[in-house]
Amino acid sequence: MKAFVFSEELDLLNELVAGATQLAGEGAEVTAIALSDVAFEVKGATKVLSVELPADAPVDAVAPSIALAVEEAQPVFVLIGATRIGHSIAARVAAKLGTSAIVDAKAVEMVDGAPQVLHMLFGGAALRNDVATGPVSVITLPAAMYEPLGAASGSVEAINWVEPAAKVVKKGTRKKEASSKDVTTEKVVVCGGAGLKSRDDLAMIEDLANKLDGVTGCTRPLTEGADALFSGEPYIGCSGVYVRPDLYIGVGVSGQTQHTVGFEDAKVTVAINSDKNASIFRYSDYGIVGDFRAVVPALASLIG
Ligand SMILES: Cc1cc2nc3c(=O)[nH]c(=O)nc-3n(C[C@H](O)[C@H](O)[C@H](O)COP(=O)(O)OP(=O)(O)OC[C@H]3O[C@@H](n4cnc5c(N)ncnc54)[C@H](O)[C@@H]3O)c2cc1C
Repeated sequence: MKAFVFSEELDLLNELVAGATQLAGEGAEVTAIALSDVAFEVKGATKVLSVELPADAPVDAVAPSIALAVEEAQPVFVLIGATRIGHSIAARVAAKLGTSAIVDAKAVEMVDGAPQVLHMLFGGAALRNDVATGPVSVITLPAAMYEPLGAASGSVEAINWVEPAAKVVKKGTRKKEASSKDVTTEKVVVCGGAGLKSRDDLAMIEDLANKLDGVTGCTRPLTEGADALFSGEPYIGCSGVYVRPDLYIGVGVSGQTQHTVGFEDAKVTVAINSDKNASIFRYSDYGIVGDFRAVVPALASLIG
């Protein structure tokens, strides 16, 4: 069975290759479309198609090249990494192929030779199983669903960039100052919520995250406003930032659906909240009712 995968993020692309290989089963022919700077680093694909974008093209301008390659090869499904850029690309590829993109998959299984996709609706308030009716399914998948394969890929072949009909020109790029750790792939996530009010509060959860060799994440309110503690950072939830760590600790997080969908696949969940009725406790394996300014330093001192 033929399958295509794409992500602008190499680690996610390698995970999708593994996922597509597993789903396509015996005789899987998995073609990875990769941006040219990482094409030789793709693991486990049958074939890699390398696309070089012009310097002034934004990444989502790769969509027509993917659509053309898919039209020519006629795979059964296309997996695209569920990043913000990936969602934009999936929508364009699906439109070009005359189908819909099924986004934010939680699980995919093959039923009668076609992928059946369990995915979120209404910002995570509901789940639905969908099967695409067209000849090809376009599906977006988040990180950490599949373990990458170790083996090198087969051939790497350059394909021509196909210019989008409506061209957007990149005028410049600015490097974002962000944590060097990726919240979607770390094993421990300490998530700050709107209960955090100051840099001192932030330093408290950073200290706990460091001691647990993890990373800090946040809910949406902590990203809003110029002086927000996580200004401009991605926030966990139906924004598309899904985490699956071994341990998630929510600190001053109330537990509203738009956020909880982002961490519900964590192996162990701990909530620290001063309100004993906070709904996050319903999603938690362990709950501590109390002021995090007392609880977090106490936990950190227990660790070392
Ligand atoms: C279309 C849409 C999409 C959205 N997408 C997202 C998304 O992707 N991700 C997301 O996070 N949100 C999202 N939201 C916002 C979401 O609905 C919630 O508003 C948000 O998740 C709440 O964040 P919070 O729990 O940090 O804040 P709050 O709900 O304000 O909760 C703060 C909590 O801190 C506790 N607290 C306060 N002080 C202390 C203390 N000293 N010690 C202990 N506990 C304390 C309080 O008891 C309270 O429970 C979205 C909303 C909409 C409408």
